[in-house]
Amino acid sequence: MEIIQHPWPDPFQPPITIDYPPLQLESSFSFDTRSSEDDSGSNKRSKSRTREFFPGESLRLYVCGITPYDATHLGHAATYLTFDLINRYLRASGSEVNFVENITDIDEPLLERAQRDGVSWEGLAQEETELFMQDMTALRIFAPRWFVPATQVMELVDQAITQMKSKGYVYSVENDLYFRVNDFLINLPISEAEAIEIFSQRGGDPHRMGKEHPLDPVLWLANKENEPGWESSHGFGRPGWHIECAVISLRYLLGPTFIEGDRTRETLIDIQGGGSDLIFPHHFMSAAQVTSITNQNFAHAYVHTGMIGLDGEKMSKSKGNLVFVSQSLKDGIDPMVIRYALMKSHYSTDRMWDQNLLNQATVEIARIRSVLARIEVAPSSSLVHTIIQSLSLNLDTPGAIGAINEWVIASENGETGGSVGEVARALDSLLGLAL
Ligand code: ZN
Repeated sequence: MEIIQHPWPDPFQPPITIDYPPLQLESSFSFDTRSSEDDSGSNKRSKSRTREFFPGESLRLYVCGITPYDATHLGHAATYLTFDLINRYLRASGSEVNFVENITDIDEPLLERAQRDGVSWEGLAQEETELFMQDMTALRIFAPRWFVPATQVMELVDQAITQMKSKGYVYSVENDLYFRVNDFLINLPISEAEAIEIFSQRGGDPHRMGKEHPLDPVLWLANKENEPGWESSHGFGRPGWHIECAVISLRYLLGPTFIEGDRTRETLIDIQGGGSDLIFPHHFMSAAQVTSITNQNFAHAYVHTGMIGLDGEKMSKSKGNLVFVSQSLKDGIDPMVIRYALMKSHYSTDRMWDQNLLNQATVEIARIRSVLARIEVAPSSSLVHTIIQSLSLNLDTPGAIGAINEWVIASENGETGGSVGEVARALDSLLGLAL
């Protein structure tokens, strides 16, 4: 697969000229450059996790992309929708956003699925990535500036590992290379025992003999028989998962001198995002690896979205109860209804998807549409103000949607004095609802 600039067409974003408050986001954890040895006090750790982004800034946003072995499900949709709302708010308020997303087009699940189905892993990755791009287009999600497959950054991974080696962060077990995470464990967002347990469920190998610390993640896997590999100065093989995002974010948000970091800024990037299952180990490890290379803090905010369940159960591939976006669209569900339904609850919470939610969202969208077709509607500037205010407070979409529905009822009750166009533009621009 190739590196793609602007992989799908950006939706049109109507300008809303208004004074925007800074965007406040809650960071799921703090990660700072101090290592365990110079932990002179624990004050810093109890500080507020609220991060502010001021209108007009130039910002760097990195969101972890898909492993393209299956279609996009609603959990993915909820994640990319959340970062789309952040992107929309920042852009509307005059910020310039460099947005980068990766594609994990080489990893265990992809290889396993390709083998199970008797297809090539490259072909499978290509096909599922194309489907993903169609889903994102239908959901009116802004495209990243750079959409970068892991298989295209082997040279960067090679350079980064060389750098880590020179700083003493690398050791080998048989022919595989591991990252020494010990110095950074002070930043662990959970207890070490918990981390070890989760690590083994999410691609880690805490109990492998020969490792210095159970939480050390693999950097470079020596080639196994019948598996794809790449030449590198560390042997023939393929990269571990976390190093991929570490180098892609640095290279495509900072530029070719990524290994030197960016001393002009307090943190290298502004927002690192993904689903809450990425907090540990993936984002913690990426932050540790970035810091080991640059000796700088990685992200100002680590933003994570809750998990989506179905009918009261966790949605998972093992339960076989995944709801795919492409299938829903084929079944005739309006992509705007999917967007709206996902925005009815807060992005950071674990929440449920069911027919009831879908029905309710369908009815509410129909009512909004019918009010937007009126000549006279209830006052609109206060509604637009409330939508912006709600979004600025850690993306309070339930608050914004509550205000929209109150405005719908007021308009249905005959209140007048508002502008249909003003509301339609705000829904489109800030919430991505083109109705
Ligand atoms: Zn990632």
